Amino acid sequence: MIKKRLLSGEPCKKCQQAEEVLRGRGLWERLDEVVWAQEGDADSPGMQLAAEHGVELAPFFIARDPGQSPRVYTSVIKFIKAELADAATTAAPPGTDDTLAAAAERLDETDPVAILRYALGRFGARCAISFSGAEDVVLIDMASKLGLPFSVFSLDTGRLHAETYRFIDEVRKRYGAEIQLMTPKPELLEPFVRQKGLFSFYEDGHGECCRIRKVEPLRRALSTFEAWATGQRKDQSVTRADLPVLQADPAFTGSAGELWKFNPLANWSSDRVWQYIRDNDVPFNSLHERGFISIGCEPCTRATRPGEHERAGRWWWEAETHRECGLHVGRK
Ligand code: SF4
Repeated sequence: MIKKRLLSGEPCKKCQQAEEVLRGRGLWERLDEVVWAQEGDADSPGMQLAAEHGVELAPFFIARDPGQSPRVYTSVIKFIKAELADAATTAAPPGTDDTLAAAAERLDETDPVAILRYALGRFGARCAISFSGAEDVVLIDMASKLGLPFSVFSLDTGRLHAETYRFIDEVRKRYGAEIQLMTPKPELLEPFVRQKGLFSFYEDGHGECCRIRKVEPLRRALSTFEAWATGQRKDQSVTRADLPVLQADPAFTGSAGELWKFNPLANWSSDRVWQYIRDNDVPFNSLHERGFISIGCEPCTRATRPGEHERAGRWWWEAETHRECGLHVGRK
């Protein structure tokens, strides 16, 4: 890693942030050395490497393998993705050849970290964490600390709060994770909005809008993975009471056919999740500080009153048993 030292003697802020990300992802120990580029000193080793490789900004990373040209990364996110690519095969967990049913039995009584270790050890970046809420960042935090590869995607419906977009970017930077943002297909969205306007869900239910803005993009995202991990919990909703920690996704298909769906936090309570967030300094959506508990699209989410169930703030004009958006249908 090439870090820049400022004239003041301090390392540059971006270099420090990159180091924190690498430490958080368990990658720091895999660096051979840190080379300093001294501001104002073209002869310092880091400045010479920058000139040699045509790089203008620190930090940057050089990976060398015998007999191959050096690989230069100017983004810590790209560096992490490339250098973690082989970790899954070296960290295969016990029971890697288990059928889904056997794996579900093996994981049933285990904790979320053990479930994630199994999922990422077996599938690596072919397993995606679906990111939208506080629980999902807990999963990203746990996955980062395992030092195993993983993918992250998020559904950008076009109707999210500005705070949520900032939160997504904060998580991206904090964990050095590439977040694939899935957007609705214009050929579906444009005629829908043209015919029904922007708020039809208040009149005829959220189903059609959610299908276009969430379910179809989710289906597209999942078709490129073999497994996914969600932050669902049993106590979030009456519709989630029998949620298993691992199931064959009954609604979506993955790149290899059957899609494994891990719900590592199924048995955790909301209090347990927030305890983890506090203990581990996990970033969270600033809307939580304004009374929002379960956060979705801006027009379909409101703050809850003390004592109200967390799902009371979602699609509040509809019956409790209909407050799902189709992302987690057909649970076993
Ligand atoms: S939550 Fe509301 S705005 Fe978002 S996709 Fe569903 S109906 Fe549309």
